[in-house]
Amino acid sequence: MTINEYQKLAMTTLNPELSKKDVLINGVMGLCGESGEAIDIVKKHLAQGHELDREHLIKELGDIAWYLAETATALDVDLEEVLTRNIDKLKARYPEGFSTERSINR
Ligand SMILES: [Mg+2]
Repeated sequence: MTINEYQKLAMTTLNPELSKKDVLINGVMGLCGESGEAIDIVKKHLAQGHELDREHLIKELGDIAWYLAETATALDVDLEEVLTRNIDKLKARYPEGFSTERSINR
């Protein structure tokens, strides 16, 4: 499955009654909510003595992907373009790979 195929399949489960504005709002709120769920799993591992719940964290990453797809859809952009632009930005920032110096002086 390509990332754009994922976006298309994921969006078959989007509520068709939402307006474009509501899709955008739902997307960004969902990204925050699902990221919070992911953070909570790691917090429990780091601060509360839980085993890292890897399976649960993987599921939350999927939920984050769904809301990423929704937000991109609201912006009429496909996920391949979003990811390509991100890689282009990273290549410009770190042409030789990560460096602390370039991270500080960007
Ligand atoms: Mg979730």
